[in-house]
Amino acid sequence: MNLVNLMDPQQQVSFTEAVKIGLGRNQGVFFPEKLAAIENVDALLAMPFKARSSKILQHLIGDELPSDTLDEMVNSAFNFPAPIVEVEKNTYCLELFHGPTLAFKDFGGRFMSECIGLFNQGERVTILTATSGDTGAAVAHAFYGKENVDVVILYPQGKISLAQQKLFTTLGKNIHCYAVEGSFDDCQALVKQAFLDEEVKSKLGLNSANSINISRLLAQVCYYFEAVAQLPEPQRQQVHISVPSGNFGNVCAAMIAAAIGLPVSKLSATTNQNDTVPRYIKTGNWSPNATLESLSNAMDVSKPNNWPRVESMLNTAIFNKDDFYSCSVGESRTQEVMRHINKLGYVAEPHTAIAYEGLQINKSDNETGIFLATAHPAKFKDSVEDVLEQQLDMPQVLAEALAKPCLAEVIHADYGELKSRLFEKLGS
Ligand SMILES: *Cc1c(COP(=O)(O)O)cnc(C)c1O
Repeated sequence: MNLVNLMDPQQQVSFTEAVKIGLGRNQGVFFPEKLAAIENVDALLAMPFKARSSKILQHLIGDELPSDTLDEMVNSAFNFPAPIVEVEKNTYCLELFHGPTLAFKDFGGRFMSECIGLFNQGERVTILTATSGDTGAAVAHAFYGKENVDVVILYPQGKISLAQQKLFTTLGKNIHCYAVEGSFDDCQALVKQAFLDEEVKSKLGLNSANSINISRLLAQVCYYFEAVAQLPEPQRQQVHISVPSGNFGNVCAAMIAAAIGLPVSKLSATTNQNDTVPRYIKTGNWSPNATLESLSNAMDVSKPNNWPRVESMLNTAIFNKDDFYSCSVGESRTQEVMRHINKLGYVAEPHTAIAYEGLQINKSDNETGIFLATAHPAKFKDSVEDVLEQQLDMPQVLAEALAKPCLAEVIHADYGELKSRLFEKLGS
């Protein structure tokens, strides 16, 4: 697989290199040089989830990974289902929250962990990442107990839900957590600074594991095929998929799925009140506002880092511009929609409700709609119980995590302090 840096086309790398580097020169993201269509998509759709996923990844990655190795990686990464549930006529929900940390980020995090395990044999790696909620838990669980890997997670003290936090701060072993006295932006700034610090980078073997990593993106392509495969055949002709979007990685994976032959006629990428992209599409001006805190906190992003990939696919007509919709859903509307879905007999957390609303706004009657449930409602227990005025059952993983003590250390938003803590703990 050959990937090109979208900011600097001179830089071309293999899949292996792209996974290890993450981000290219000039802060550029890597994108596949070409996306060939898969032959016989019907036969592919007839296969079981894991076998099909391995085929899709083989098609994308090419001969860099032997197929039996890839089979093994997919078998251990994708060890939980992604079912669709019919919520109303012609409208299905794709449940991506059956993994260990109850959000779709488990798919990408676990496949990335398999890749790093393979590529860094013997070498020491430190995954350093800032989280505003769900990435931290997915990455921590994916790398938990892996040899030669340490994971360092920074999160803003007191600004993420207790359920989100306890899913990673209670693990221990090779998972090291710091509660930063500051905002998510402060955490991200600390991570950036560490990546610019050659001493830290080389001594600890830093890798970032954020959503621009190509391994996470390719893993996500697989569950779009799984969704369509579960539709009754007559309903596969006009499929409209709605993705709740923050960094726009998930919808980018949907576009790649369409590019290699998945029958997707339309895509909706719906944001919360952080609406940089919908405004950009309407006006042509890229003008991010200050990030606002929302019920759907995993989408509180005003500078989506996967947008350059999406835009390049729209500009080169890999995905038709006219079939791509992006609108935003405000806070009070999100709550109304959660109550509406509840009346249909389904419980949706805020991100999922936004995806449902995107479909209602953009879907036409002849289309089959699929909206993504990106997190389990219990992960947003407080807001869901508040809005729906009902109690939720706790999944066992969450109940167990909530009962354990938090092992995170509190630090100031100060790079010098972070650096000395890291060397103390990891610099052997
Ligand atoms: C990360 C996340 C999103 C946003 O996905 P992007 O790929 O960043 O657009 C949506 N919902 C949940 C629950 C998430 O954790």
